[in-house]
Amino acid sequence: MIRIGLTGGIGSGKSTVATMLAERGAVIIDADQISRDLVEPGGEALAALVTEFGPRILQENGSLSRGELAALAFSEPQATARLNAIMHPLIREESARRLREAPQAPAVVYDMPLLVETGQQDLVDLVVVADVPEEVQLDRAVRLRGLDPVDVRRRMEVQASREVRLAAADVVIDNSGDLAQTQAQVSRLWDEIVGPDS
Ligand code: ADP
Repeated sequence: MIRIGLTGGIGSGKSTVATMLAERGAVIIDADQISRDLVEPGGEALAALVTEFGPRILQENGSLSRGELAALAFSEPQATARLNAIMHPLIREESARRLREAPQAPAVVYDMPLLVETGQQDLVDLVVVADVPEEVQLDRAVRLRGLDPVDVRRRMEVQASREVRLAAADVVIDNSGDLAQTQAQVSRLWDEIVGPDS
């Protein structure tokens, strides 16, 4: 089974490419979804986060206050490192568990927005980057996904730059055209790495 690491900045079309790969038969492991699940009440990470950052990261109903956690964890690099030390091993463990439970597939796609930022290129066989110019990223994220432009810009600032991400890519999917053009590139990639009959 080939391991693909799929990444891209916000609004670059990473989820769109992941869906196209899933349609061809890849198993998708979504790192963002896993982190959201882990911090649900009763999720494995929540208790550890409360021990580390204190009960103020909880809302009154016992669920995580993302704002409080972000304020505490991103205030200084050491706090971010403490957050990562809790989350990253649990995300890796849960990814492995989901993969074991997934049906047999010719490829697994690790959908990881921060693949490059967290230096996980070596854990996969192929790094695939969904790429569009920054102005397209912003436009699609705001116009098509309804996200707040200030939030999107902030997210773009903490994510790797386009250049850094492209430098880490084995394969670049240029998603600046229409969806059919992206589909054609994804199909070509699948045919090359898995085979046209799969
Ligand atoms: P990401 O997962 O990287 O944040 P998405 O795949 O959600 O990005 O794409 C952002 C938005 O742009 C979505 O609404 C998606 O439907 C749309 N989109 C993605 N690729 C294209 C494309 N080639 N042409 C037009 N719209 C697109």
